[in-house]
Amino acid sequence: AVDVGMIRFEKGRIYTYIGEVVVSVNPYRAMNIYGRDTIEQYKGRELYERPPHLFAIADAAYKAMKRRNKDTCIVISGESGAGKTEASKYIMQYIAAITNPGQRAEVERVKNMLLKSNCVLEAFGNAKTNRNDNSSRFGKYMDINFDFKGDPIGGHINNYLLEKSRVIFQQEGERSFHSFYQVCVSVYVCVTRQTDATISWYTDQMAVADAMKVIGFTADELQTVYKVLATILHLGNLTFGVDGDTTLIENSKVVAVIGDLLATKEENVEKALLYRTVATGRDVIDKQHTAQEASYGRDALAKAMYERMFCWIVGRINDVIEVKNYDAKVHGKNTVIGVLDIYGFEIFQNNSFEQFCINYCNEKLQQLFIQLVLRQEQEEYQREGIPWKHIDFFNNQIIVDLVELQHKGIFSVLDEACMNVGKVTDKVFLQGLNSKLANHAHYTSRKLSPTDKSLEFDRDFRVRHYAGNVVYSVVDSTHTLMWPEGKLKITEVTKRPLTAATIFKNSMIALVENLACKEPYYVRCIKPNDVKSPLLFEHERCRHQVEYLGLLENVRVRRAGFANRQEYPRFLQRYKMISEFTWPNHDLPSEKEAVKKLLQGCGFEQDVAYGKTKVFIRTPRTLFCLEEQRTEM
Ligand code: ATP
Ligand code: MG
Repeated sequence: AVDVGMIRFEKGRIYTYIGEVVVSVNPYRAMNIYGRDTIEQYKGRELYERPPHLFAIADAAYKAMKRRNKDTCIVISGESGAGKTEASKYIMQYIAAITNPGQRAEVERVKNMLLKSNCVLEAFGNAKTNRNDNSSRFGKYMDINFDFKGDPIGGHINNYLLEKSRVIFQQEGERSFHSFYQVCVSVYVCVTRQTDATISWYTDQMAVADAMKVIGFTADELQTVYKVLATILHLGNLTFGVDGDTTLIENSKVVAVIGDLLATKEENVEKALLYRTVATGRDVIDKQHTAQEASYGRDALAKAMYERMFCWIVGRINDVIEVKNYDAKVHGKNTVIGVLDIYGFEIFQNNSFEQFCINYCNEKLQQLFIQLVLRQEQEEYQREGIPWKHIDFFNNQIIVDLVELQHKGIFSVLDEACMNVGKVTDKVFLQGLNSKLANHAHYTSRKLSPTDKSLEFDRDFRVRHYAGNVVYSVVDSTHTLMWPEGKLKITEVTKRPLTAATIFKNSMIALVENLACKEPYYVRCIKPNDVKSPLLFEHERCRHQVEYLGLLENVRVRRAGFANRQEYPRFLQRYKMISEFTWPNHDLPSEKEAVKKLLQGCGFEQDVAYGKTKVFIRTPRTLFCLEEQRTEM
């Protein structure tokens, strides 16, 4: 499979099919395959009629939605830099291009908003990393709603786990979110030395501001966004010191600026940064932070402000793209195509809470893939009584359980550790894991494997994910989680806020439930090398990706199986005109018999199998021959 990929990549054929799954290899160069003429070639065609392309999958999802009234979804996966976000944008462009032949103004408005939203979300949610100059630091699921004519009438965006730690810390060679550079450069562009980067930030900033205006952000709201960005930048400059028993802010001028930006008094800023409010019995008192606690609080504030602003922006976009005035009673159900562009599996030098969440998300999606594509396929053959040799694949449900099971899953243990406010919670957390998961085949730590030097005592645990082993460090992970969401009165000690872990877990479970009830289409993105080269196809690297995307199992199940299956009545209805035995009516005892007769007559007997309710067609070519004969009639 990898060799085929390499040959195709070298010929500039970046897309390959496995059944209905598109495998895409990032070309790292501009390809002339997304223009109007290409769109026309794919529009309304069946999957196998044209060379593999993203557009074909987009069209298949669209046709299923329009012809069969099905909600569909396109799941795009792959590691950072593999081309997920680019793929999702091409898919949206394709859908925008093939819809609204009647040029209805409202539909055009919606399409424009949906496309513009990408630009805004990328500015605030993407950043330069060592893996990708435009890396999405959040997960995104977007629903596009269609009316009974098949035209887009609205949408909705769900965002998942923004990597807010980036606001305060970036690894060597990486940057914070684009928005910070854009806002700075637009202030200073006239006075700074202009480099390629500053010029592009400046033009980006103009494009983002324009997109935000089009979406309906008011001038005031834009100002607020800039103020929040500036506040966060200034917060980053604050330093704390001590004088005797008191903690103080060393650069009070910065406090004044922040006060201005937030339209509040300097004292309020100072108090918020230097004190915390604690409940002792029925009393509420202000307790002074140490300098270290104060810096920690400053960072937490910066992260929280950025995250809330990001969520607010998504919310504002949702307000304008949401479906309005659609009367299902009059026009029938409105249908949906969902597009999921979400972080791929991550293994870094240092893996913490964020990587843990991301990798858990990939376990969930792999489980969905197993259920929808691999298992369902095999079960269908069994159900239909088609002779079938079972194909083994690793079922990762055991790892999903390891993470999310109530009471004994890793998230539960983490939540428990977070209850112990004020204690040494990181250690408590690791101890909890060690006692609850000592015998789990996919979990270990230094205490459980004392000879394993790759794990540090009191710091690390390792999970054997379906895609590989990952060592996670618990240091600081419990802190990350304790920032409570929502407003909470300090004396309401009985009601605890949900932790970030629980919120994320719940959002993943909801996401997977939502995807599971749609007809899925998959785009699996592969990153050919680590140096962004259009020429280099690193064999081993690609092999690893093919493995952990589950593509080998996918190919095996596909090869052993059938490309297409249809219920007898439906098949007959579509093709009965090509056989004298079935046109205009047949006199056979059942529809199954009629289909048999039809296929025997056409000479396709070798390529099909007859199940209880469906006919199974092994190769796509047979299907195309049938389609051809049908159109020739
Ligand atoms: P992340 O998980 O970090 O967000 P990603 O999978 O979304 O990564 P993209 O941002 O889509 O990756 O792609 C990374 C870069 O690769 C793009 O900025 C672009 O330069 C290049 N690229 C990706 N897909 C294509 C394509 N189809 N044609 C040309 N270049 C591409
Ligand atoms: Mg991306």
